[in-house]
Amino acid sequence: MEYSHIMVRFGELSTKGKNKKDFIKTLAINIKHSLKEFESLRIETRYDHIYVILNGQDYQPVMTRLQDISGIYSLSLVYKVESDIEKIKEACFELIQKEEGKTFKVKSKRADKRFPIVSDVIVRQVATVILKNTDLKVDVHNPDITLSIEVRDEGTYIFTKTFLGAGGYPLGVGGKGLMMLSGGIDSPVAAYLLMKRGVMIECIHFASPPYTSQAVIQKLEDLLSVLNKYQAKIRLNIIPFTKLQEEIYKHCPESYAITIMRRMMFRLADRLSKRRKCPIIASGESLGQVASQTIHSMNVINEVTNVPVIRPCVTLDKTEIIKIAKKIGTYEISIRPYEDCCTIFAPKNPKTMPRLDECIELENKFDFETLIDEAINNYEVKIIDGTQKEEFDSLL
Ligand code: ATP
Ligand code: MG
Repeated sequence: MEYSHIMVRFGELSTKGKNKKDFIKTLAINIKHSLKEFESLRIETRYDHIYVILNGQDYQPVMTRLQDISGIYSLSLVYKVESDIEKIKEACFELIQKEEGKTFKVKSKRADKRFPIVSDVIVRQVATVILKNTDLKVDVHNPDITLSIEVRDEGTYIFTKTFLGAGGYPLGVGGKGLMMLSGGIDSPVAAYLLMKRGVMIECIHFASPPYTSQAVIQKLEDLLSVLNKYQAKIRLNIIPFTKLQEEIYKHCPESYAITIMRRMMFRLADRLSKRRKCPIIASGESLGQVASQTIHSMNVINEVTNVPVIRPCVTLDKTEIIKIAKKIGTYEISIRPYEDCCTIFAPKNPKTMPRLDECIELENKFDFETLIDEAINNYEVKIIDGTQKEEFDSLL
């Protein structure tokens, strides 16, 4: 007997009341999309589970892919049999023989109340068969093997193996966010954390050629190719930032340059988020990491926009961020050397407590509005589409 299905559980979704239907639908669509090249698979949506019907397909690559889809709490490889006690016993006996271990426990859930045998009796009958025909012993507290039986309306599912999913919410249920993507370690991690909460992303990058090179763009494309694992298509908006940056350095003292530069970035993000219908902006900022990321700096920088700015990494240490970057596969790309517009013009003594009135006075020295208009009307777009890349497979 081969595993017939993968049982997909939602976890957090279960608490979502009336939104549940939409959530399940979105998750089912995401699953279908992610598994579309496995032609024999079928997806079945039920009230509190989704089932992937394997139809003879090897479960391993399917499982690997499912484990990256946000909104899935856990996954079990199951046998599905008719709800008939003899068939259940037979399947349980067969399944437990595949497992290694000396002790076992049987659990049963009778969701289909039409089934005439209550859970305790199912457990006892199945355990008796196993005890009679194998050397396994019962251990209810710390068993090597836990055999679960779920009697449902459409049949009975039997499983011993449960794997954790990515958790979070299905991508798309949280709307769309505009992610400020540099080429560093933090922003791809922030993007991932946001996607995990169900928010689709679109990216904005500020490029300052010739101070920053084309290699940065390649790096962003590579980073987004990795993130395609979680969102199949990602739009990258590349904003020309050179003129603004040159004006800032012409008119502002070094200590204020970063603060003003970041205020310009947020003004541009604000404009683009409205144009692209992204109700939030997100960044990779982490509290206290650098001068521009103190709470005072964030306050003065944030003042230019009324769009909520979400900072998924805000309370994480660098080591914690690096750990996630390594797990999701962005770290090695992020550490490639590159020139960021922040590093190129990095001042020696940036302000950790910039003053808002000072910023406004400095900004009045040049016509930044015109430069912002110009930049926001001349940006370049790239679509990073994971479904069209051969290397997509090797990422999984
Ligand atoms: P990262 O590792 O994400 O580059 P960082 O620690 O280097 O972050 P900063 O360079 O101060 O910190 O940038 C903070 C955040 O501002 C970044 O995480 C990113 O969201 C945004 N950001 C910085 N530079 C750019 C850029 N050139 N284009 C788009 N967003 C940027
Ligand atoms: Mg950076």
